[in-house]
Amino acid sequence: MARQCPDCDVALERVDYSTTTQDYGIEHKLRIEDPEADGVLARIGIGDQRNVDAYLCPECRLVRLYA
Ligand SMILES: [Zn+2]
Repeated sequence: MARQCPDCDVALERVDYSTTTQDYGIEHKLRIEDPEADGVLARIGIGDQRNVDAYLCPECRLVRLYA
């Protein structure tokens, strides 16, 4: 499913991103707490977070993040 810019009505392009915090070349990606996480997995520390994808509008440079 194509992502659309809400202002320009053009397709958003998926882009790579990085945070300003990088230790020894290890990238720290943005994550969100997953509201649908299974309770058992969350308790042992996995499955409770979701990586975030960034999409950029080529017209107005809007960046949207999707989990
Ligand atoms: Zn736009």
